[in-house]
Amino acid sequence: MLRKLVVGNWKMNLTPREGVATIEAFVEAVERCEEVQVAICPPYMTIPRVHPILHGTHIELGAQDCFWLDEGAFTGQVSAKMLAAEDIQFCIVGHSETRGRFGKLDIPESTVGFFAETHETVNLKIKALLMYSIHPILCVGETLAEREAGTTDSTIRAQLEGAMAGIDGSELEGFVVAYEPVWAIGTGQVCPSDEAGRICRFIRDWFRTTYGDDVASLRVLYGGSVKASNAKELFAQEGIDGGLVGGASLVAKEFSQIVDAAWR
Ligand code: PEP
Repeated sequence: MLRKLVVGNWKMNLTPREGVATIEAFVEAVERCEEVQVAICPPYMTIPRVHPILHGTHIELGAQDCFWLDEGAFTGQVSAKMLAAEDIQFCIVGHSETRGRFGKLDIPESTVGFFAETHETVNLKIKALLMYSIHPILCVGETLAEREAGTTDSTIRAQLEGAMAGIDGSELEGFVVAYEPVWAIGTGQVCPSDEAGRICRFIRDWFRTTYGDDVASLRVLYGGSVKASNAKELFAQEGIDGGLVGGASLVAKEFSQIVDAAWR
């Protein structure tokens, strides 16, 4: 059976110094849970600071995004090649915040376009990550408007088709997909666990139909307001192989309770 995977996405939170303190508390709290695979995705600047602390632990390091070309005149970007040089094992791609599909707008709408990546850029990023043997964590999910219009499944199918175009089944070892309903991210509004399980099974079925048995090691996570109080019920659902956790991964104690919920 696949080990459950719990990934913390710190987003643009914690300075490098605060990140080091959080990781230190975190290693102590999470070290005992070897039955669960755990990864943390801090901001790029924090990665070299926390790397030595995680060395020798079973906690792995991820990034929150990448650019698909190795180098060049792309101000502000970080390539998959650079992440590989820092021994990064996972990288989030297609997060609703980088796709510009915000669930709850607390910034001017005019800025959303700056983040907006497309199916094509998500696909290019996945290909770059696979080339450097970094496991992608591909995020998919519907907005509230799409859910209310009854297009949840077709939205996710289109995201999967776009993201996976031209990718061979033999490249999927360690591949991760996170079902993240946009309306549940950072809103405190969690998707009902049976529905989260249904969509995670729908995602696995899509991979099985597209790739056959090559998807044995695929993990499908749920993300969207996961907390210590709801993690156990979510992780118990058939088809949910763990969680992608935003806000609740910033506090070592809360995150370690979520990790505990994945194996107890
Ligand atoms: C996320 O960032 O992917 C996420 C799910 O955030 P939160 O847990 O805060 O909803």
